Amino acid sequence: MIGMLAVLLAGTAVGLHGHRPLLWLAERRVDPTILLVGWSLLSIGLVASTLAMIGLLALPMDEHEASGLFQLVGGCWTAVTTGTVPAWQQTVAGISLIMAATILVRLGKAITSRLRSVRRHAPHVEQLRLLAMSSSAGEPLWVPGRRAMALSIGGRPGVIIASDGLRAHLPPEAVAATLEHERAHLRGHHHALVTVAETLAAALPWCPLLGAAPAAIRDLVELAADDQAARRCGPEAVQVALRRMTGQPVPPFGLAMASRLTELRISRLATSDPQGARHLLRWPGAAAMAAGTLLLPAATTWLGINVVLCAVT
Ligand SMILES: [Zn+2]
Repeated sequence: MIGMLAVLLAGTAVGLHGHRPLLWLAERRVDPTILLVGWSLLSIGLVASTLAMIGLLALPMDEHEASGLFQLVGGCWTAVTTGTVPAWQQTVAGISLIMAATILVRLGKAITSRLRSVRRHAPHVEQLRLLAMSSSAGEPLWVPGRRAMALSIGGRPGVIIASDGLRAHLPPEAVAATLEHERAHLRGHHHALVTVAETLAAALPWCPLLGAAPAAIRDLVELAADDQAARRCGPEAVQVALRRMTGQPVPPFGLAMASRLTELRISRLATSDPQGARHLLRWPGAAAMAAGTLLLPAATTWLGINVVLCAVT
């Protein structure tokens, strides 16, 4: 029981305040890839853990002896019962079922509305995908247009669209940096990260962590893509591209090069060292962040295993 209450409290704290440490780390310019791992795993882990915890609360339990690791946290939850399910437990189970159904229905609605929006743009996107098949992998589909424009569309296969205006108005190294930025979005599955965050936020808008995630992830994918472009083409080339492309129209789908935070990104690149020590700390940092953010799902899984083991033994 103590273990279950502790995980419930931890889940509530993560839902209400989990975004604060991530925003604090962002202000201290922690690597965007590390923060993307944090936002994504914390959000998905919170929703999965919440559903699992509610499911555990709804389980009708009979009397069982405490066993295994569960005993360490105060004895088996079922041991507090007296052989029949008491009224308070029935109430908890009823409330849990209503909460689980509400969350699942809202998730279903959010996913349906997302699919509807994808379908609305599907004919144009499919046309672009077909046209892009003539280009070699990673190369953009060049489309007519006087304005400098570049964007990527996620999915299989991912597509990069660039306008002729990009080549006309930007020097070759800035064009290369722009395309590298868009390739980084596709390699990093940034479109999927944004989609998942937006869907979870639409389904559960009252959760502060999930509510803050879409904007944070949209900003972080731009910073992460800038970093990768800067590492391959140099920070100056990315800066030039951002300066020249500021004000480009934001497409209704895909991720555009200069749609967000352009001033901040330009000033950040001025002091960045793409080959520096921070780059070497990226993957150990991401692994540490993943371990930290997966603590809640891990604790929930551990509780679930113990409850199930307890119920079947
Ligand atoms: Zn971008």
